[in-house]
Amino acid sequence: MIAEILSVGTELLMGQIANTDAQYISKRLSELGVTLYRHTTVGDNVGRLKEALAEAFSRADLVITTGGLGPTEDDLTKETVAEYFSLPLEMDEASLAALRAHLEQIGRPMTDNNLKQALFPTGARIMPNACGTAPGCIVEKDGKIAAILPGPPFEMKDMFERQLAPWLSQRSGVHIESRFLRIFGIGESLLETQLQDLFHSDNPTLALYCGPGEVLARVSARANTKEEAAQMMEPLVQEILRRVGSFYYGSGMDASISKAALDLLKSRHETVCFAESCTGGRLAAALIDHSGASDALCESYVTYSDEAKTRILGVSLHTLSAHTCYSAECAIEMAEGARRISGANWSVSVTGLAGPNGGSERTPVGTVYIAVSGAEGTSAKEFHFAGGRDHIRTLAVGHALNMLRLKLSGQ
Ligand code: ATP
Repeated sequence: MIAEILSVGTELLMGQIANTDAQYISKRLSELGVTLYRHTTVGDNVGRLKEALAEAFSRADLVITTGGLGPTEDDLTKETVAEYFSLPLEMDEASLAALRAHLEQIGRPMTDNNLKQALFPTGARIMPNACGTAPGCIVEKDGKIAAILPGPPFEMKDMFERQLAPWLSQRSGVHIESRFLRIFGIGESLLETQLQDLFHSDNPTLALYCGPGEVLARVSARANTKEEAAQMMEPLVQEILRRVGSFYYGSGMDASISKAALDLLKSRHETVCFAESCTGGRLAAALIDHSGASDALCESYVTYSDEAKTRILGVSLHTLSAHTCYSAECAIEMAEGARRISGANWSVSVTGLAGPNGGSERTPVGTVYIAVSGAEGTSAKEFHFAGGRDHIRTLAVGHALNMLRLKLSGQ
C-alpha cells in the first residue's frame, strides 16, 4: 500500500505550529510496513485542498489527512473528501448523540455548525474521537482510501493508535512488531560502524534515529503473527545489546535517560540532589517531569554566580581563583557541597560554558564539567559539546543523568 499524508491547516503554512502530526504518522507508517511517498501541506482552502487530494490520489492508494474537522466554516476536510469521491454526506446518529452528550456535559449549547461534525461521506467507517469532539473516518472507493484524522496531536495519536493502525494492520494481514532500544553516550556514526553488518538483514530490519546525545535503535520484524515477529527480532536485539554494552539504558518509545536514573534511584530507595550552574535547573526539572520524583528528589540548587557557589555549596575561593568555575575541581566541590547540605545519597553537579559568548582558548564554549558524588567518593568528567546554547545545555543534562545512571548501576 502506498500512502501520502495531506496536512490541512493555514497555521502550518504560516509556521505558527510545527507539523508534528505528519512526523508521528510517518514514523508509525514505516513501522506498519506502509510505504509513504509524500507529505503535502495545504491551508484551509477548499480549492487547493481539492487539488492536493486529487494529486495525492493520482500517486497513492491511501491518503491520510489531518486537521480541518472542527465545527467552523473553514474546517472542510470531510466535505472535500466526500466531494472528491462523489459521495453525499450523511448524518451519523451515534456520533450526533455522542456530540450532544459531550456538549451537555460541558454545559455548551448545540449549534448548527456543531451538527456538521456528525456528517460523514456515505459508507464511511467512523472513528470515534476518545479525546475530543470531532470523529474521524475512513472512506474507501474504487481502490482508493482516505483516512481522515483530527489535527490536535493528542486526538490524532489516540485515533491513529486505537483505530487506524489496527485497521491498517488487519488490512495488510501482516504483523509488524518493533522494539526500540535506547542508547546514550555513543555517537550515531560510531554506533553505525559497530553495528554495520547488522543493517544488511531485511527482515528483521534495524534503523537508527539520532537525538541529542542519544540514539534510538529500532528493530522491526514482519511475520504472520505477533509472536512470530517477536521471536524473529530476539537474536538481533540480543546481538545489539551485546555490542553496545552499558551505552544501552532502556527500551520503548517512552523511555528516557531521566526516567532510567529515577527508576534506579527508586529501586535502591536512594535520593539525589543537584547543584546546577549552566543547566539552570533543567536537571531537577528532568526528574520532576516524572510522577514519583519526590521519592528520590528532595531539593536542588541553582548556583549560577561564583558567590552563590561559595555561599550555598561551600566551593572554596581558592578553587575559584586557581581553576575558575569552569573546572573539574569546582564541579567536585559543588557536588560534595550539595550532598553535604542536602543529606542526599547522591549528588550531581554541572558547571560549564554554554555560550555563545565568553569562550577562550583555555575554555572554549561547550566546555562542561560534570561531577557525581556518592558514599564511595566523587568523580568528575570534562566534556566538549558543540552547537548552540540550548543544545549544549540539553547535552549537559543528558550526560549528567547518564553519569548518575552508570554509577547507580555499578558501572
Ligand atoms: P478542532 O476540532 O480543534 O478544530 P481540527 O481537526 O479541525 O480540530 P485544526 O482546526 O486543523 O484541527 O487544528 C486544530 C489544532 O490542532 C491546531 O491549532 C494545532 O494546534 C493542532 N494541529 C493541527 N494540525 C497539526 C499538525 N499537522 N501537527 C501538529 N499540530 C497540529
